[in-house]
Amino acid sequence: FTVLLVDQENSIAMDIGGQIEETIRELRSYFNTGKTRSLTWRKNQLSSILDLVHDNEDAIFKALHQDLGKHPVEAYRDEVGAVEKSANNSLSSVGKWMAPKKSSIPLLFYPARGEVLSEPLGVVLIISSWNFPIVLALDPLIGAISAGNVVVIKPSEQALACSSFLANIIPQYLDSNAIKVIEGGADVCEQLLVHRWDKIFFTGSPRVGSIIMSAASKNLTPVTLELGGKCPAILDSLSNPSDFKLAVKRVAGGKWGPCSGQACLGIDYLLIEEKFSFALIELLKKIIRRFYGENPVESKVISRIVNKRHFQRLCNLLKDPLVAASIIHGGSVDEENLFIEPTILLDPPVDSKIMTEEIFGPLLPIITMNKIQESIEFINSRPKPLAIYAFTKDETFKRKILSETSSGSVIFNDTLVQFLCDTLPFGGVGQSGFGRYHGKYSFDTFSHEKAVMHRNLCLEIEPRYPPWTRFKLEF
Ligand code: NAD
Repeated sequence: FTVLLVDQENSIAMDIGGQIEETIRELRSYFNTGKTRSLTWRKNQLSSILDLVHDNEDAIFKALHQDLGKHPVEAYRDEVGAVEKSANNSLSSVGKWMAPKKSSIPLLFYPARGEVLSEPLGVVLIISSWNFPIVLALDPLIGAISAGNVVVIKPSEQALACSSFLANIIPQYLDSNAIKVIEGGADVCEQLLVHRWDKIFFTGSPRVGSIIMSAASKNLTPVTLELGGKCPAILDSLSNPSDFKLAVKRVAGGKWGPCSGQACLGIDYLLIEEKFSFALIELLKKIIRRFYGENPVESKVISRIVNKRHFQRLCNLLKDPLVAASIIHGGSVDEENLFIEPTILLDPPVDSKIMTEEIFGPLLPIITMNKIQESIEFINSRPKPLAIYAFTKDETFKRKILSETSSGSVIFNDTLVQFLCDTLPFGGVGQSGFGRYHGKYSFDTFSHEKAVMHRNLCLEIEPRYPPWTRFKLEF
């Protein structure tokens, strides 16, 4: 599906609008043939996704490098490998997931039997973001296909090479009657949202998430919102030096490892007791040197900032004089190469933008406290995050974090790994979104669980019918 651009703005809008309407109509009538409901169709499409990523690995690496300067190893770990894992998992489980489930029926209804049937929702819209442009489009697609839906994917216009890669390659591998890609930015997305969908799955910012939700509400369309926010990491006192070293290495991996900090699940800021901050900072500096060399601007393994707008946004976060004064490592920027050095800030003002807005870049504020238990109050004074990371061996503290905070996930003693774990639900809560996906959760997200009761026509309980009498009340 290609959107043809013509001169006048109005005719562009009409052209796109008309094509979208026609696409949805075609998809709906294909869905109504029932073809996408069969196990064979679902498995064929999932196998084709595996072929797609396998045959085009180099092209994916190239597109990710063009859009984000992602190194192929990182691109394999976070995108290609993640898609392969999801597709393989769904391929081996979809038969089991879609099988009708028997349900017990209370005695009151006997003779009867019950079952729950998972049925596809219908025509699904997947809107994705630019930071993991391959996996954030294909992973929800895997869920939508597993559940037997027809799909439109709207990739992010900010990762153009990946967007056009998906638009070109998907029709070559997948059933083009059932799966379409529509490219474009906010204007195209607005046009898409005018129409009735059976489900909208959105990955992006809370601001646009609320636009999506209000558009969806007009047709009572269910939505899943995978949003962002500020994920905190808590670093407790780890008395064993090797535990401390490993924890700090994982903090560095969780901050700068994925897409140079442009990750919804990446660590946004770090909380630590003041007395450990010097040791932490010295170790972080060493690790940054080990990861990216003496001169990180020359490093080939650190992703670039996606575009000038985001580059400027990050620079602006550092412009506040009190924030600038808190930089204790890094801080250099190179606009031409869209590069921002891994940067550490110690105790920037907690009401500054860097501490109130999602950073989404390689800047790490460290906030010190007297007692690490205060971190719970600090986290609770802000919107609910997508993830909380806590490095601690203290079981009482772990339970306190679990029972006194709310977040999409909590990971003890590691970062980011939950994204690859298909047996756990992935999603946010509050400002970080709602709904969940990955593995069976993806299948459920794109299915309706239909309740079915099979009764027969032999026994009857007369008191259920009028006319109402005292006898019937006492029955
Ligand atoms: P974004 O909200 O700007 O854009 C997301 C999508 O919405 C894009 O496809 C874009 O074209 C579309 N869009 C933008 N403006 C629109 C409008 N006015 N009307 C309709 N559609 C519009 O987000 P982004 O910059 O692509 O991604 C960054 C955000 O996404 C961060 O907040 C990040 O935390 C979040 N994110 C969340 C996850 C997750 O899994 N929870 C993953 C990646 C990114």
